[in-house]
This record gives sequence, structure tokens and C-alpha cells, in this order.
Amino acid sequence: MSFFNSIGRSMQRSGPRGPKRSPTPTSATFPNAQAQAQPADSQPPPSPSAPQVNKPLYLCSPFVEAALVKGNFKTIVMLPKYVDIMEWVAVNVFDFFQNLNMFYGVISECCTQQSCPSMSAGPTLNYTWINQDRKSVQLPAPTYIDYVMTWVQNLLDDENTFPTKSGHDFPASFPATIKHVYRQLLRVFAHIYHAHYPQILHLRSEPHFNSLFAHFLAFGREYELLDIKDVRGQPNTPIVGIGALWERWREMGILEG
Ligand SMILES: [Zn+2]
Repeated sequence: MSFFNSIGRSMQRSGPRGPKRSPTPTSATFPNAQAQAQPADSQPPPSPSAPQVNKPLYLCSPFVEAALVKGNFKTIVMLPKYVDIMEWVAVNVFDFFQNLNMFYGVISECCTQQSCPSMSAGPTLNYTWINQDRKSVQLPAPTYIDYVMTWVQNLLDDENTFPTKSGHDFPASFPATIKHVYRQLLRVFAHIYHAHYPQILHLRSEPHFNSLFAHFLAFGREYELLDIKDVRGQPNTPIVGIGALWERWREMGILEG
């Protein structure tokens, strides 16, 4: 039984959820030693001129640079010694979900059928939901996100999908399931950035939210849980929404290629 199985996840997932160990850095738990003094971007910041037309606020200085973690995420996504890779992926996905769920919970009163009649992630980007008849349908964002979060919560609670007990193995379908989960959580991030960034700023949570998302992206790329096209959009189309954020963070050295 691995460390995370015995101490981390089984504690988190048994009965009422207690405080959890979080691999996602927070100001309270992230060791200073790892928060490298290395600045993410040693260039002088661009002058705080008026944002370009159509440029989302989250791509503008100083918000795009706001982070709890300075430097590159490579080290914190690496598989720790003696930890099973499935277990490492499971505990991190669990944690990304919990943190994202918390953020969405805080801003959800601003995400209504009226404010967000579609699952938008850019001026021309709307995600559709595949219904039981395999048809692609438009849903209001709160409905879409509720479906995603409920579905993921049920998977996390399912011992057959996310085994926590000793002797229970991860199913062969686990990697495919996780990729599916990852793509849907990415869409929730994308909607929050596109539609609810003012609320994130109002809460002064942009450093935390940026670090959570950058960690999510770095982890997804490291373990091939995310397709580039899901982040950047189809080739030959203009990069919109979080795709532009991804590009910017790569230029800044926060993320790798
Ligand atoms: Zn919304």
C-alpha cells in the first residue's frame, strides 16, 4: 500500500471529509524552499497601458503573472519516489477537483441560467454536452458544470473507479476515465476564466486560481492527460481563451512545451 493510499486519500475519502493533504500549493502549505526565488519573468513588466481591445483581463498585466508559485511547475508534478503512478494521478486529480469545486462554489451565485446561457469559454467558443442519445446539446453553464461536478464526484466515490482499499487495483479503464475527467475539468476552468474572472479578482484570488490552473495544466501534460488541441483549440484556428493563457505562461517559463 502506498503512502498516499494509506495516509492521504483513504483519510480524505472515508466518511465525512476531514482536512486533506493538498499537493496543490497554497500559501499555507506550500514549502517556501520550493517556491523558487527565480522570477518567472525577469523582463520588466509591460507598462500598465489600457488593455488591447478584446484582450481578456486574465491575459493582462499584472493578473497574468499573479501566482503563489514562482518559477516552473515541473518539479511539483514529478512522480515522487516509491509512489505508484496511478495513485499519484488519482490523488492529484482528486485534489484538482476539490480545489476547482471550491472556487466554483464561491462564484456560483454569479453563474446562472441568465448570466451564462451557454458553456462559454471565449467569444466564439461554446462547449456542448453529449447527452444520453449521443447528441451534442447546448446547456446553460451552471447546468453543464453541475453535470460535470456531480459525475466526477460520483466517480471519486466509486471504489471500482478510484480504489482506496488495500488489494483493490485500479481498473484497466482508469487512464481513459481520467483523460475524460481532465478534459471536462479543463472546460470548467475555461468557463471561469472567460465568464467569471471579475469575481476571481474581486476575491483577490487570482494568484491562487492561476497557480491551481498552471499546476493542473503542467500535471496534465506531464502524464498525457490533456491533448494540446483541448487547450489551444484546433490547429489553423485563432487561439482563444485559455489557449492564449497557456501560450503566455509558456513564454514566461511557467509551463513547458
Ligand atoms: Zn458562468
